Amino acid sequence: MALRNITVRGDEILAKKCKPVKEITPRIIQACEDMAETMKAADGVGIAAPQVGIMKRFFLAMPHVDADDEETREKIYYMVNPEITYKEGTQESSEGCLSVPGYMGLVDRPYKIRIKAMDLEGEEHEYEFEGFEATVFCHEYDHLDGILYTDIAKDMMTVEEYSEILEEMKQSHADDPDADNKDIWTAKNERNGK
Ligand code: ZN
Repeated sequence: MALRNITVRGDEILAKKCKPVKEITPRIIQACEDMAETMKAADGVGIAAPQVGIMKRFFLAMPHVDADDEETREKIYYMVNPEITYKEGTQESSEGCLSVPGYMGLVDRPYKIRIKAMDLEGEEHEYEFEGFEATVFCHEYDHLDGILYTDIAKDMMTVEEYSEILEEMKQSHADDPDADNKDIWTAKNERNGK
């Protein structure tokens, strides 16, 4: 296995639509192994083929960050030729991207999705996700269509600003540590006098 270079925003590869995978070749399997290692090394929860310079429709995701057991937390979904078959509800999510280092954005996403894809053995599965997990899959899926979250974000801030505001919020409502996304974005705009 090897770490791959992550393509960053500004590279035109990230703005292009990827082509379907015709066959799951050893080269694609190798790329997936490398991408898993690259994603973990960069502390990411997902990575799509164009982010390592491959213009094909596959990505992987490790979305169960809050699971109690380690096995679930480390579960990686390999999604080849994915298709979102159902969307329900809406949520505002705070997102980052390995291709946009140093920033966070506020994005509208469906609350619940169903997504169909092949795994690396070529078997079709359909999955259902909601909340944060749904966001991760929508974000990675968008990469395959050349869409970055920065293209659709309603607001952006730097990671430093995000951590500072979180810290300020923790101090000002010590009894309410679970302030939601909306609060942090509202706090940011109040802070900047908007
Ligand atoms: Zn991304």
